[in-house]
Amino acid sequence: MLPFSQLSSSSLPILRDVDLLVVGGGTAGAIAGIAGGRAGLKTQVVEQFGFLGGSQSGALVTPMMPNQIEGEPLNGGIDMELNRRMNAMRESGVWKDGNRGWFNPEMLKHVLEQMCGEAGTELLYFTFVDDVIMEENAVRGVTVVNKAGRSAILAKRIIDASGDADIAFRAGAPVEVGDPETGINQPFSVRFHLGNIDLNRFAEYLKSLGRHDVMEAAEGSDVPLIHTAMVWGKGWTLEPLFRKAVDEGVLLESDGHYFQVFSMAGRPGEMAFNCPRIRESVDGTNPFHLTRAMVTGRELINRYVAFCRTYLPGFERSYLVFSAPMVGVRESRRIRGEYYLSTEDYFAARKFDDAILRNCYPLDIHRDKDHALNMQRLKAGEYHEVPYRCLIPLKVENLLVAGRCFSGSFEAQSSVRIQSNCRAMGEAAAVASAMSLQRNVPPRQMDGKDLRARLKELGGRL
Ligand SMILES: Cc1cc2nc3c(=O)[nH]c(=O)nc-3n(C[C@H](O)[C@H](O)[C@H](O)COP(=O)(O)OP(=O)(O)OC[C@H]3O[C@@H](n4cnc5c(N)ncnc54)[C@H](O)[C@@H]3O)c2cc1C
Repeated sequence: MLPFSQLSSSSLPILRDVDLLVVGGGTAGAIAGIAGGRAGLKTQVVEQFGFLGGSQSGALVTPMMPNQIEGEPLNGGIDMELNRRMNAMRESGVWKDGNRGWFNPEMLKHVLEQMCGEAGTELLYFTFVDDVIMEENAVRGVTVVNKAGRSAILAKRIIDASGDADIAFRAGAPVEVGDPETGINQPFSVRFHLGNIDLNRFAEYLKSLGRHDVMEAAEGSDVPLIHTAMVWGKGWTLEPLFRKAVDEGVLLESDGHYFQVFSMAGRPGEMAFNCPRIRESVDGTNPFHLTRAMVTGRELINRYVAFCRTYLPGFERSYLVFSAPMVGVRESRRIRGEYYLSTEDYFAARKFDDAILRNCYPLDIHRDKDHALNMQRLKAGEYHEVPYRCLIPLKVENLLVAGRCFSGSFEAQSSVRIQSNCRAMGEAAAVASAMSLQRNVPPRQMDGKDLRARLKELGGRL
C-alpha cells in the first residue's frame, strides 16, 4: 500500500488521472466501463489480459445461465442491450426466438470493445494492478505493472471488478473466502472447445436418448442448440456410455463427477465444455493453485477428448480447438460490505429500497455431496433483490466493487454470481460513481433509492 503523500517522492510516473478507474475488464468491469463513459465520466479500464469479457471470454464460460421468470429476463439495461446486439450478428446469434444469453465468446470481446469505444472509454490491456494508493482510508489510485514498467493511475472513483476483490483487499477492506462454516470452496473448471463435430448427428443421437435440450437451428444458421450433461446417478442418459468408457480404461471414475457441454451461437461444428472440474486446491488467489489447475485441467481435457471421439456419435473427427487461457474460478474473496446478502435473504425473496438487480437463479454450489443447499431454488415466480450497499466495502472510501466478489454469503454468491447479474452490478457501480461525483458525496452516502430510479430510467428492470 503506497501512501498518497509519498507518491511524488516515489518516482512513479502518473500514467493517467481519471474520473473513474475500473480494475478488470471482465463480465462486470467491461459493463462498468461502458456505463461510466456513457455517464460522461473520463473512464479508464485496466485489464491484465488482451481482451474484455473476463471469465466469459477468457475462461470460456458460455452460455449465460437464465435469470428469468416465465421466459421474461429479470435483468435489463446494458445486459439486455448487449444480448440484443450479439443476437443480431450472424457470428453470434442464432435462435432468434428466445436466445437470451447463448453467445460466441470471441465475438463478445469485439462487441464489448466497440461499446467501450462508442462510450469514449479508454482501455489499457496487458496491465496488472498490483497495489493501491491510499490517503487515510480512501483509495486515491492504484499502481500498475506492465511492459513499460511500474506507474500510477489516479482516479476520483474506483471500481474493483477484479473478481477476486484485489483492490478492496489491498486497501484493507474486510473480506471472506469460501464457506466460513465448512471451509469448502467451489471447484474450479478449466473449460475447452472441441471443433469439427457433426452437430446435427449428435443432436439426433441425443434426441433418441431423451433428457437433453436440443433445438433446431434457425433459418440461415448451421448451429442447433444442444445442451447435455452427465453426473453419476442423476439420470443422465449418457451414463451408460460413461460407464463403458470407465470399464474400458478411457475415463476415470472421477471424470463422471461432472460433465457438461453446450453448442455455441455462431460457431458451427464446435461445442463448449463446462469441465473438467477441479476440487482440490481451489484458492483463486493462490498462483500455485491456479497453475496446478491448468496443468491438471489439460490432462483431464485430453481424456475427455479421447472419450468424445470414441463414444459420441458426431465427434469421430473432432479436435481440441483450445483450452481456456483463464482458470474458471467460481468464487474467491468476497467483500464485507455495507450490507451482507444472507442466505436467509435469498430464501425469503427479500426486497430492498436500494435494489440494483433481481435474481431467481438457484444456489449453484457445485458441491452436491458436501452442501445440503446445492441447487435449492426459490418458489416458481419468486425473486429476491440485491441492494446497492452490497457493492460498498466497509472501512474503505472511494471504492465500489462489482461482480462475483460482492458482499454476500457463500450460498447467496453461488446464485447471484451468474453473468447477467455481474453485468448489472458493473452498470450500477458506474452509475453510482457518476451520481456520487455529481452530488459530491462519497459512494457510501449515495442515496441508493435515487440510484435505483436512475437505473430504471436506463432500462433496468427494477
Ligand atoms: C467454470 C465456471 C462456470 C460458470 N458457469 C456459468 C454459466 O454457465 N452461466 C453464467 O451466467 N455464469 C456462470 N459462471 C459464473 C460467471 O461466469 C462469473 O461469476 C462471472 O463471469 C464473474 O464475473 P466478474 O466480472 O466478477 O469476474 P471476471 O469476469 O472473471 O472478470 C475479472 C477481470 O479482472 C481481471 N483482473 C483480475 N485481477 C486483475 C488485476 N489485479 N489487474 C488487472 N486485471 C485484473 C481479469 O483478467 C478479468 O478480466 C461460471 C463461472 C465459472 C468459473
